Amino acid sequence: MIEKAIQLKKGRQKSVLARHPWIFASAVERVDGNPGSGETVLIFDEHRKSIAKAAYSPNSQIRARVWTTSDETVDRKFLEKRIRDSINRRDSLRQEGKTTALRLIYGEADGLPGLVMDQYNKTIVMQILSAGAEFQRNDIIGILKDLLNPDCIYERSDVEVRGLEGLSVREELVTGNLPENGLVIEENGIKYQIDVAGGQKTGFYIDQRDNRQKVSGLAHGKDVLNCFCYTGGFTLNALAGGAKSVLSVDSSAPALQQLKQNIALNDLEDERSEIIEGDVFKLLRLFRDQARSFDVIVLDPPKFAPTISQAEKASRAYKDINLLAIKLLRPGGILVTFSCSGGITRDLFQKIVAGAALDAGADLRILEQLSQSADHPVLLSFPESFYLKGLICKK
Ligand code: SAH
Repeated sequence: MIEKAIQLKKGRQKSVLARHPWIFASAVERVDGNPGSGETVLIFDEHRKSIAKAAYSPNSQIRARVWTTSDETVDRKFLEKRIRDSINRRDSLRQEGKTTALRLIYGEADGLPGLVMDQYNKTIVMQILSAGAEFQRNDIIGILKDLLNPDCIYERSDVEVRGLEGLSVREELVTGNLPENGLVIEENGIKYQIDVAGGQKTGFYIDQRDNRQKVSGLAHGKDVLNCFCYTGGFTLNALAGGAKSVLSVDSSAPALQQLKQNIALNDLEDERSEIIEGDVFKLLRLFRDQARSFDVIVLDPPKFAPTISQAEKASRAYKDINLLAIKLLRPGGILVTFSCSGGITRDLFQKIVAGAALDAGADLRILEQLSQSADHPVLLSFPESFYLKGLICKK
C-alpha cells in the first residue's frame, strides 16, 4: 500500500522545521496514497525524510495542518495528551478563581489545529474549524467526556470559514442538556448570562476578560461611551466601577436585550445606563453633530480584516471610528481602543490610531498596551495566534 503522504517542494520544509503548523498548497509537490479529508499524512522534505505528521485538507489553501514534528502516532492517546496539556495550561487561571468562563483550547496555539473549546461552568462549547479536527471529532468528544465529565457539550461549528476546509456548518447539542434556567457565568465579580446556542462566537468574548476589568478601574465618576458593547462586558464593568453614566451602542438587538438582563442580574441600577441600537459609524457622527462628549470611550469592533488582504479597507474603518471617538473625548479623556483583526499588526494598529489623533488635532499618549487574556495563549512559532491588540490612550 502506498503511504499517505505529502511531498514538499524543495526548500519548503523550512516553516515546518520552524514549527509553524500550516502547510500551504503552494508548498506541496505531490500527494501520495490518496488521503481523505482530515486524514493524517506524513510530511516529506525534498530528501524524502519524514519531518512531520499533519492533517490533510484537500480543499483548503492551508493544505495540511501539522499535528506533530516528533515520531509519535496521531491517535486518541496523542489527542488526549494534547487536550489534557491544554486544560492543565490554564491551571493558574483556575486557581486565581476570577472566572467561570475559560477558553480551554485555542487551536493551533495549543497544538490542536482548528479546535476551539470554551468552558462555561460545567458546559463545554466546541468549535471545529479544520478538516483535521473534524476527522478526529468522535475521539475529541470522547476525550472531553472522560477528562471533564461536563453537564453538556454543545457544538457551535456554525462559522463560514469551515467552507474553506470543505466542511458544512454544524450546530447541535452533542451530549447532555444546556442548563434549564439559563447559563450564568461570573467573571471578576460580575455575572453574565451566556446564550450558548444563539449568542455570537460561542456565546461570550472571553478574550477581553482582563481588559474589561481595566475599564472598571478607569470609570469612577466618568461619562463612558461603550461602542460595540455586545452583551455589555465593558458596560457592566464601568457601572460596577462607579461610572457617572454609560452609553452602550451595538447593532444587535438580541445582544442589547441580554445587556439589559445582565444589568438587572448584577443589581446595577440602570438610571446610569443608556442603550442605543444602531450602527456605530453613524451614531458617532450623530453624537458629534449633537456636540455630545465623554470622559472614557471604548471601541471594540468586530474583525474588520480577518486576513491581510482586507487590511487596507479595514484600516480606513479603524481610522474612521478612532478619529470620531477622539473628537468626542473631553480633554484628559481616555480612549480604550481595540483591533481583533488578524490582518492588522500591532504596529499598524498603533499607526492608524496615531493618524486618527493627528487628524483630530489631538496629542494622545499611550498609558497601556493591551492584549488577549492568558487562556488565548500566543504561540511564538505561530504569530497568527496573537490577534487582539488594544491601546489605552489619554487625550
Ligand atoms: N466588547 C464586547 C464584544 C464586542 S464584539 C464584549 O466585551 O463582550 C463586537 C460587537 O460589535 C458585536 O456585538 C456586534 O453585534 C457589534 N457590531 C458589529 N458591527 C457593528 C456596527 N457597525 N455598529 C454597531 N455594532 C456593531
